[in-house]
Amino acid sequence: MAKGDLEKSFQTLKQTVPLLLKHKLSAVPTNYALWYTYVSNDSEQLNAQIDEHLTKGYTLSSAKTKELYRNYLTEKEEIDAWELRQSLEAMLLEVSQSMKDTKSDTDEFKSFMDVNLDELSKVENEGLSVEEVVALVRNMVGELRTIRQKTISFNGSLIKAEKEIASLKEKLKESQHDALYDALTGLCNRRYFDSEIESKIDIDVLSVLIVDIDHFKKINDNYGHLMGDLVLKAVAKKLQSCCREDAQVFRYGGEEFVVLMPGADLKKALHVADYMRRTVEKILVKDRRTGKTIGDVSVSVGAAQKNNEEQAAALVERADGMLYQAKTLGRNRVMPITI
Ligand code: GH3
Ligand code: MG
Ligand code: MG
Repeated sequence: MAKGDLEKSFQTLKQTVPLLLKHKLSAVPTNYALWYTYVSNDSEQLNAQIDEHLTKGYTLSSAKTKELYRNYLTEKEEIDAWELRQSLEAMLLEVSQSMKDTKSDTDEFKSFMDVNLDELSKVENEGLSVEEVVALVRNMVGELRTIRQKTISFNGSLIKAEKEIASLKEKLKESQHDALYDALTGLCNRRYFDSEIESKIDIDVLSVLIVDIDHFKKINDNYGHLMGDLVLKAVAKKLQSCCREDAQVFRYGGEEFVVLMPGADLKKALHVADYMRRTVEKILVKDRRTGKTIGDVSVSVGAAQKNNEEQAAALVERADGMLYQAKTLGRNRVMPITI
């Protein structure tokens, strides 16, 4: 068959199937053959009869279809099976392309294509009748519609799944962040400190500071919890600003901070601690609503340098003991006084 003929029969087929669907006709051989002939405009009389019927607003009943078929088609040459097969293949290829375009190159679709192309090859090899070919068309049109439907929802759920995965990732990132950082001050939290000190405990020279805000309860009582929070944030910021090199501040709990100082001996740790204490003394926190300013913030600090083979918990406990002494000696001070 010439290329032009193939293209023509393909176009005819492409127009026929939608007409069957439009008029809600099942693609049984009689219907298919009738409408294929209608589209290809092979019989003027047939077309005139159908048009007249439709313009009156009638639908084509199966009885009317049979009548038309008997009158106009039985005598006619049957549709060439080979021509039909070619046009079906072309249609399948086109559909396959459009399916690919919707990113739906699914296994289901591939196997469907394989089965139907196999069936189509029988048209030539085993001489399938036009009726059988048309039944195949019906089958394919039906299956294609189902698959297309499935594919659309499959793509939809894929997009949904992708979105869900993205938001889960985001949540995971947030919860990982929440697990290690303190929301109020933005500092790393106690959990982070625990793992950090473990990872650095084998360093030869290592010190820790425990910093506790003095009479913080009174600040809350006198100015309110929100102002207390502002003071906490301000202290956190100042402590961090006093750190150089590897030193890192963590929020240890409530109004307590811990500073991990790898490479710092006690002398250096005490020096930093006193610098922190003096810096905090200068903090002024203004309450925008009341205009009141808090200016009497202070901290007490306990310092300890790691002894030979000392474990993390023991080192922190010694620093905590020093903090306790600083508190009992009157607060706003660093302990031990000297080395
Ligand atoms: P000391 O000088 O002995 O350390 O006295 P203190 O009042 O600072 O210590 P205490 O342990 O008696 O009180 C700590 C207070 O810190 C009690 C608690 O309500 C408050 N606090 C803990 N966490 C927060 C917080 O996140 N925000 C605010 N505003 N207050 C907090
Ligand atoms: Mg305190
Ligand atoms: Mg405390």
